[in-house]
Amino acid sequence: MTTRAATLVARTSSVGETQDLAAALADLAQAGDLVVLAGDLGAGKTAFVQGFSRGLGVTEPVTSPTFTLAQQYAGRLTVHHLDVYRLDQLGEVAELGLSELLDDGGVVLIEWGDAILPVLPNDYLEVRLTFTAGPQSADDDRRILLRPVGERWLRRQVSLLHAVAPWAEAPADRPEGTPPAGGAPC
Ligand code: ADP
Ligand code: MG
Repeated sequence: MTTRAATLVARTSSVGETQDLAAALADLAQAGDLVVLAGDLGAGKTAFVQGFSRGLGVTEPVTSPTFTLAQQYAGRLTVHHLDVYRLDQLGEVAELGLSELLDDGGVVLIEWGDAILPVLPNDYLEVRLTFTAGPQSADDDRRILLRPVGERWLRRQVSLLHAVAPWAEAPADRPEGTPPAGGAPC
């Protein structure tokens, strides 16, 4: 059975804020962690990896690995940055050598990872970035949903809550017109 925890909801209004949030989360990172990044093109998945990597002390520029499939960066923990957008078949995932990457003492972040969940371990942090719509929203506003799946991230749920507190938003299912509660899991 998969253990699921509450989803945390954050909001950012610039790429820098998304990167800062990701860097704050990186403080919690442990060897063998998997982060699944979901969200449409341009939502900020790569931006998130950039911030997360910076939080781990990576100094070289982090770019989209769309054409290379996987890139590694040296930091407090090695960052394995994957983008499976162009994978045609689930079978191709085998070529990534994912279990080796997870076992080598680093962290693995996979853009579009939600597309390959059947071949991923049931132990990851899902980060879902969405554009926000509505009259109050600006182009740079993003909603970021953080959903720990499995024991590894569930253990760190309270730390997660604290890490994202500066960007916390009301629960996603808050009825229209209700004031934001801030920081509460939904
Ligand atoms: P993805 O990897 O999801 O396709 P990128 O991270 O490559 O997206 O691009 C996100 C784009 O959106 C960048 O141009 C970034 O500057 C812009 N942007 C604007 N506001 C935000 C925000 N709040 N969070 C992340 N990116 C943002
Ligand atoms: Mg990207």
